Amino acid sequence: MSADINAPSEVDLLIAGAGPAGLTAALVASLEGLDVLLCEKSDQVGGTGATSAGTLWIPGNSQSRAAGFDDSAEQADRYLDALIGETTNRDLRTAFLASGPKVIDYLSARTDVQFLPCGKHPDYRSNMPGAAISGRAIVSAPFDGRLLGADFTRIRPPVPEFMVFGGMMVGKLDIPRLIGRFHSISNFIYSAKLFARYLVDRLTYQRGTRIMMGNALIGRLFYSLRKRKVPMLFGARIADIIGDARGVSGARVSIGAKEIVVTARKGVVLATGGYAHNKRLRDAFMPQPVPAHSMSCEDNLGDGIELGERLGAATAPAQSTSGLWTPASVVPRPDGSKGLFPHLVLDRAKPGLLAVNSAGRRFVNEAASYHDFALAMFESHQTTPTIPAWLICDAGFLRKYGLGVIYPGHPNPGKFVDSGYVTRAQTLDELAGRIGVDSVQLRKTVERHNKFAETGIDVDFAKGETELNRFNGDPGHAPNPCIGLLSKAPFYALAVWPADIAVSTGLATDVDARVLGGDGKAIPGLYACGNDMASVMGGSYPGPGTTLGPAIVFAYRAVMHAKGAPL
Ligand SMILES: Cc1cc2nc3c(=O)[nH]c(=O)nc-3n(C[C@H](O)[C@H](O)[C@H](O)COP(=O)(O)OP(=O)(O)OC[C@H]3O[C@@H](n4cnc5c(N)ncnc54)[C@H](O)[C@@H]3O)c2cc1C
Repeated sequence: MSADINAPSEVDLLIAGAGPAGLTAALVASLEGLDVLLCEKSDQVGGTGATSAGTLWIPGNSQSRAAGFDDSAEQADRYLDALIGETTNRDLRTAFLASGPKVIDYLSARTDVQFLPCGKHPDYRSNMPGAAISGRAIVSAPFDGRLLGADFTRIRPPVPEFMVFGGMMVGKLDIPRLIGRFHSISNFIYSAKLFARYLVDRLTYQRGTRIMMGNALIGRLFYSLRKRKVPMLFGARIADIIGDARGVSGARVSIGAKEIVVTARKGVVLATGGYAHNKRLRDAFMPQPVPAHSMSCEDNLGDGIELGERLGAATAPAQSTSGLWTPASVVPRPDGSKGLFPHLVLDRAKPGLLAVNSAGRRFVNEAASYHDFALAMFESHQTTPTIPAWLICDAGFLRKYGLGVIYPGHPNPGKFVDSGYVTRAQTLDELAGRIGVDSVQLRKTVERHNKFAETGIDVDFAKGETELNRFNGDPGHAPNPCIGLLSKAPFYALAVWPADIAVSTGLATDVDARVLGGDGKAIPGLYACGNDMASVMGGSYPGPGTTLGPAIVFAYRAVMHAKGAPL
């Protein structure tokens, strides 16, 4: 797709990057009456946001309150104090908590960006003071991609592992109905309707147009921008910022072999998605050994951070886990390429699964949040090889709960053994031998864990003892919804690696998302949001939606400041 170079050469606000942060900044700028130009390096909108689960952590949001889930910013503040520490990013956190519900209501009232309450969706350290079990997470309402017509192809698709039949998105609520399609008439009709819609879609589109999660969020932001006719350049990379630490006045934009200069009267907003695919910055910021896998959009090369650094901007936090992590399995695809499947919520917390390191020992509560699970991998790896770690289960578990891309009840798990995705063996000894894990210890670990399954008490890692654990476990399993026997051959092992789903080290900013120089003073006219901005959570992961919530809130705050109406 070629870029349209009939761009304005002078605007109020120039925005780099069309992920959730940049799209929100452009939409708010347009609503606030500013001349805005959005430049996107690739041919599509969405960035990593389009492949995300699309959940936003917005304490005290009105959507949840209207649905009967009470929560308050004060409680969330208590929780963040306990999790992050009372002093880290205090001002930014206060600004985030104060603006969050207002920004969501603003978008909901004035645009097609609409949100639904997630209801029960526990915070990730649900046993800490101030943590909530429900009411803080919201998600984009599903979106009908047909409304975009030909522009539907501009939305970056989800990763293939998140679609069925080569292009149909399914939401969390669809999964049990599709799997149980032959168990009830209503499930059958529901599934048949989804499939029929998908078949009709495929006559016109390259994939299904019933989109959800992060893809729906992007669809809704993009549709709202198109309706307002906001100028957007595709294939347009912000290559340089014009200015210095005393202020910026615009940017040079590379479009193919051409370069244009755009003057920005009120500022430039960096929303280029962070540094996930920038080797220099990965080496500088990430844990050692630097993780080989990233789930971030491949165009996120750290442009925003490097552009800021050239102007003397500071990066933060100094002491950070530098990323938000998930364990991910590597999926061999039929075309020879490899995908990554994030083990977020579907399998790890279910009863009958263990995670072990190369010594055959458990190193973590398997039902911990994906971020905490990966942090435990880093820690265990310091003394015992734990990258990759191994998820171990038996045939009954696989049939009932699935494992990674192998969905529950899959008729042919052997196909995943043949492709090398998963390892299978008739005994635990044989399994351990195949994956290079200490076999004597693995047997002991399984025997010990099987005893926990009988008592329901995991004396080693307390699996199943938090609301979060139990939420992702199997409520129908007793005495502990997260601990089950691992006993019937064949046994399976799946390697998982830590992969970043977002980065948390970025450009230091103030509460209005103004980028700060090394001297702590704001660089006039330069803003950063999304993963270009240092995480307001200081690298911690409080709950579902930890990056998208702040991305949208600080995009809004940046624009209001640039407009001259700071909050
Ligand atoms: C599987 C998965 C699930 C996730 N689920 C959630 C979730 O439920 N909730 C949550 O909060 N977070 C989630 N995340 C993380 C979330 O998607 C990211 O944190 C978020 O998308 C970051 O938004 P962004 O706008 O900063 O960057 P991105 O969404 O990555 O967008 C950046 C855009 O900038 C463009 N760009 C790059 N360089 C330039 C340049 N020089 N000029 C112009 N354009 C440029 C890129 O092409 C891209 O389009 C998930 C991530 C993954 C991988």
